[in-house]
Amino acid sequence: MDLYEHQARQLFDRHGIVVPRAEITDSPKEAREIARRLGGRAVVKAQVKTGGRGKAGGVKFAADPAAAELTARQILGMDIKGHTVGTVMLAEPVAVEAEFYVSYVLDRAGGRFLAIASAEGGMDIEEVAATRPEAVARVPVDPAEGVTASKAAEIAEAAGLPARAVDVLVRLWQVLVREDALLVEVNPLVRTTRGQILALDGKVTLDDNAAFRQARWGSETDGYGDPLEAAAAAKGLTYVRLDGEVGIIGNGAGLVMSTLDVVAGCGARPANFLDIGGGASAQVMADGLTVILSDPAVRSVLVNVFGGITACDAVAEGIVRALDTVRLTRPLVVRLDGNNAARGREILDARRHPLVEQATTMDGAARRAADLATAA
Ligand code: GDP
Ligand code: MN
Repeated sequence: MDLYEHQARQLFDRHGIVVPRAEITDSPKEAREIARRLGGRAVVKAQVKTGGRGKAGGVKFAADPAAAELTARQILGMDIKGHTVGTVMLAEPVAVEAEFYVSYVLDRAGGRFLAIASAEGGMDIEEVAATRPEAVARVPVDPAEGVTASKAAEIAEAAGLPARAVDVLVRLWQVLVREDALLVEVNPLVRTTRGQILALDGKVTLDDNAAFRQARWGSETDGYGDPLEAAAAAKGLTYVRLDGEVGIIGNGAGLVMSTLDVVAGCGARPANFLDIGGGASAQVMADGLTVILSDPAVRSVLVNVFGGITACDAVAEGIVRALDTVRLTRPLVVRLDGNNAARGREILDARRHPLVEQATTMDGAARRAADLATAA
């Protein structure tokens, strides 16, 4: 999960990396108030999960509170690389003397982390790496050893960063480890004209697999993700919302992926990815259906299950019992195949729900669900 800049800043701050004072808002009027609180001047920054905001006009300096309001009005609603700006952050401007780049990124192939650092920060680091590769230091970090003061000194030395950046490098490693991040990046890390080292912009990608042990992520991530995805996550479901109209439930990520493809091949768009894995219980079915049916865009739902370890009759029982608790408001097409499929179909037939129908093949089921979703 990628964090917004203002969320990344909270993590930096928690681990002692200095960030400029800042506040977020979705209202131009409030932006004026914030600028006033910050002393009048402010850098107004679009909060979108994509880089290159500056170049796209999403980072602007405002000389007084009235200008901050006007600038916030311009930036809010702006489209930056397909991301609509819903929130701006107003930060206290700092007098920058030098801009650096520092990051730690997981190097999966190498089974380690990589510190990437450069004395030429601020701009697009990929561009620097392409045109002047010698200006970008890449130092492997053994995850078991981490970034100690001496490792940090080695990184700073390799990149030509000032000695004062060493402390930040150690703290940034703490952010990565303690917050369970896969990527932490500060660009730019700056030295102000008064010699202070500050993180002016940050990017953090958290490791979703660590969510179970990061209860405090809640405060950073609440209210920013998709509400349905949050509801699904709270129920322990592997659900990703898409922008189509056919709700999808399947068992096994591979089967669900191919189901999405087949539905798309039938001229409809999948509304979600939902893998119930081996969990065919009535509760999992009911939870899955509830989440999918809370999406108003959904016009039909397709359950595609290939019985293996979880037999189809158990899945059918799960669906039948889920129908007792969930009010089905849109048609449900079920395709059961594999282990105990015949028994599963009988169980569903016996339930005789007016909105439930069965198909024997994946293609047939997808075609039917697509037709139901696209009809009138
Ligand atoms: P990005 O374009 O999405 O990477 O957004 P940044 O937050 O990195 O801002 C882009 C650039 O704006 C930075 O590299 C800085 O050069 C500049 N900038 C942002 N905030 C300040 C500030 O407070 N003072 C100064 N002097 N420059 C700033
Ligand atoms: Mn930046």
